[in-house]
Amino acid sequence: MPPADRAAVTGVPPGIATARASLTPMLSQYADLCAAHEDALVLFQVGDFYEAFCEAAETVARVCEVTLTERSDSTGTYPMAGIPIDAAASYLESLLEADYRVALAEQVEDAAATSGLVDRAVTEVLTPGTAVDDELVESGTTTYVGAVACERVDDAADSDDSGSDTHTDDRAAPTLGLAVVDVTTGECLVTDGDPATVTEEVARLAPAELIVGPEFDTEPNAGGARSNATGSTDGGSVYSNPTDSDPSDPSSIGTEPGASPAVAEPLAAAVDDFAPRAGDPDRAIHRHDPAVFGRDAAVERLTPYGGGLERRLETDAALRAAGAVLAYAEYTQGDDGPLEYVSRVRRYEPDARLRLDAAAQRSLELFENRGLGASDTVFETLDETSCALGRRCLERWLRRPLVDCDTIRSRHDAVGELVDRPLVRTAVADALSTAYDLERLVARVSRGRADARDLRSLHATLAVVPDLRTVLAVPPDGDSGPRGGGDAPTGTDDPESPATTGPQTAHLQDLHARLDELADVRDLIAEAIVADPPQEVTDGGVIRDGFDADLDELRATAQAGREWIADLEARERERTGIDSLSVGHTEVHGYYIEVTDANRDRVPDDYRRRQTLKNSERYVTPGLKEREESILGATARADAREYELFVDVREQVAAETERIQALAQALAELDALTALATVAIEADYVRPELRTDPDAGIAIDGGRHPVVERTTAEFVPNDATLSRGSVAVITGPNMSGKSTYMRQVALTVVLAQVGSFVPAQAAQLPVVRGVFTRVGASDDIAGGESTFMREMRELTEILHDAGPDSLVLLDEVGRGTATTDGRAIAQAAVEFIHDELGATTLFATHYHDLTALAEAHERVTTLHFTATREDGNVTFLHRVVPGAASSSYGVEVAELAGVPRSVVERSRELVETSDLDDAGNVGDAGGVTDAGDVGDNGNEPSGSGGAAATEVPAEVAATIRDLDLARTTPMAALNTLHELKQRVDDAE
Ligand code: ADP
Ligand code: MG
Repeated sequence: MPPADRAAVTGVPPGIATARASLTPMLSQYADLCAAHEDALVLFQVGDFYEAFCEAAETVARVCEVTLTERSDSTGTYPMAGIPIDAAASYLESLLEADYRVALAEQVEDAAATSGLVDRAVTEVLTPGTAVDDELVESGTTTYVGAVACERVDDAADSDDSGSDTHTDDRAAPTLGLAVVDVTTGECLVTDGDPATVTEEVARLAPAELIVGPEFDTEPNAGGARSNATGSTDGGSVYSNPTDSDPSDPSSIGTEPGASPAVAEPLAAAVDDFAPRAGDPDRAIHRHDPAVFGRDAAVERLTPYGGGLERRLETDAALRAAGAVLAYAEYTQGDDGPLEYVSRVRRYEPDARLRLDAAAQRSLELFENRGLGASDTVFETLDETSCALGRRCLERWLRRPLVDCDTIRSRHDAVGELVDRPLVRTAVADALSTAYDLERLVARVSRGRADARDLRSLHATLAVVPDLRTVLAVPPDGDSGPRGGGDAPTGTDDPESPATTGPQTAHLQDLHARLDELADVRDLIAEAIVADPPQEVTDGGVIRDGFDADLDELRATAQAGREWIADLEARERERTGIDSLSVGHTEVHGYYIEVTDANRDRVPDDYRRRQTLKNSERYVTPGLKEREESILGATARADAREYELFVDVREQVAAETERIQALAQALAELDALTALATVAIEADYVRPELRTDPDAGIAIDGGRHPVVERTTAEFVPNDATLSRGSVAVITGPNMSGKSTYMRQVALTVVLAQVGSFVPAQAAQLPVVRGVFTRVGASDDIAGGESTFMREMRELTEILHDAGPDSLVLLDEVGRGTATTDGRAIAQAAVEFIHDELGATTLFATHYHDLTALAEAHERVTTLHFTATREDGNVTFLHRVVPGAASSSYGVEVAELAGVPRSVVERSRELVETSDLDDAGNVGDAGGVTDAGDVGDNGNEPSGSGGAAATEVPAEVAATIRDLDLARTTPMAALNTLHELKQRVDDAE
């Protein structure tokens, strides 16, 4: 959507603005609310509809596909579009999807109770990251809104007196603070670090929206005297229009004078990583009111959220990010002060987790599958959770695996115990399957938005807890014992006397202890709220009889009145002798006694005529009138009393927010652990043994790919033995299983550190601190963008950040460019990783001659995938064996794929005569052959193809060797490449 479009409809629609002076009070109120929410599309409640006017109406009509009508009043005729409030959710979703923020301006006063203009106020601003209505939030996934603040890089003038040490070294990377809030559950996380770390966290947490501080501002001086970016706003706006910078354009971030390039570049990269996740590059990141990023503003903002945050958050950047994100979350919730459901602002160290950057998450297909089967992800494979709480917890675990060996082992212990105790496992899963989303319920309760049904759902969930406690407390099964190899449980507190009942492992014991039954809250709800309450909490029928004496009395009065009326017909028939006399009720006229015209003369004196019908007359009596009034009065007062009681109950429950959240956390963990145990049983996983000796390598027996094995009829398990710091160069024909193999090794490591068992017969694993994966551009089907550039940038990141504690996967790196360059880069990179970084590496390549690296480097080994060739047909065995591949079977694959016979035969001829140089000029022919593989003897050293092919690479290689990649920017890398290519071209 073109930005101009949005500029026209957020804030005051031009059509309304021009008529400003002559508007009726109602439209004038609309204009005021629009002006106060410059960045949002205001939906204005008029009775049962949300309405928008003029240009805003046109947008609503188009996006929501509703009819554009008009409203006429004494001042003119205005285009108008309305959406029914009853069915608003799907329309709101369309607006959010189309990238609008929506401000709901609701009637905050009973229309019937005022004679003049109904008061309206913006009660909520919906944004992609902060929408909290259940219909708008996919259950079981976490939706964060985030803020990033940068340590101030002040003007020299400012920093003179502050003595800021940020200037002692101009080149030092600044500290960024990152804070995220899940507005549906109140989870608030804060961290900080250098730009790379924070960028990583942004990509990992994948907030639906990210606001950035003034340091990232593209507008000169925007942090001081605010200038106006769009020109369509009048300077009164607090929030900048999100479209006034183009966040997808890296050059637009941090380019103002004073913005540190050290921040600008990584953040631009973060935008690149982050934008595709949010689905829409335009909405991912936007600037925000600089005022809320101020330190003092942050301190003030944070005070209600807990003491000592200034100290606990450690850095100014973290503090300011936290202040800003809460300011934004409060703003979107209608700005009535602190968010009560955010009970804890949690600081965490990004380092305490396995580094698993966005590229790795993507290529390992943890959460999204780049191919067809959207559900074929690692997360879906593991997701045997029973409730939304557990699902979100498991998602968090997979996004942020552990690195602390003891913590990982204690999860393994717990999973092991649940594996060994099938009765407990299934009973826990059954009990949790009836649990509602406690985190979101409690957030609604503390926000004062929960209705009576929500309280009953809360009650139903609390009712599960005693069952769970009982289930966990049963004696262990007689036949339980540690499963498979793996570590012995470290859990039991005292191994001398294992508990005879209840959980055997420390982790489950801890969870058991944390299962707070919250009997007080449960009983309160049970006593106060009827079992099946209505949706509305203002129309009565919510509070149980016996809960409140006043209410009971009012109800009794109303009931007595109704009974009196019920008996009235009989009494009056007897008194008047009119057998056809009847008593009835209408909404408009109330109760009446009806007498047909034929009996009119027998009507008693105390009857007062109320209404004349065709053949009859309706009457009231003073007695009836009196009863009617007492019923109405008692009912109205009962309803009001019920509402009062309901709000009171809700507040009492809200007071227990922290305990409920703690319980939710325990239930979530229990569910996630149970899910891992279920997967372990059903998919036949084994407990991995963690090795802590400093040079522990990876040793996997019969490893499998957790996702591919589900979709492949006969998956062939493979071993993996990688000593620490070794580089395995993997060759083999296309489709032989190289990529699958590398990923299964990485996934085994990741799953183990999540706390899961792993798809293998046995596994001994070190604890790694980072998993990096790079996939050659032509394999990266999802990429689409500046492929080679991206590949190189990602490679650069590894070369900066990987270390001896890392596992690196390089899959066909260098493929995105011409063969000579690509191979040169691949080789240089592998040498660098081997010599300088010492990271354990799996490197799949179609440059067969790179297997020669094994001879020159001690820790480089070769592996290859085999296939059998029979009568010109090829069968892939998907089995990995030591050594370099002897044949690529490329031609056979081409034949299998249906390449015309004559082409296949010509290819065979060329292969046999070795007519091609080693650069394999057939390499790109439909991507079905393996470039660089000639003849049946692939062990032949490279360079059989002539002088140019050998000499030029030598010179090029020298240049590349001299490169200091750790200090090469992506741009410089591209320039160097260009130059290299020039040289290669010239030499030919
Ligand atoms: P390569 O990277 O060598 O081109 P892939 O790893 O992409 O090959 O594997 C190609 C296909 O082969 C996969 O989609 C999968 O269906 C199948 N495959 C891979 N490894 C195995 C295995 N170990 N057992 C069975 N099938 C496998
Ligand atoms: Mg591959």
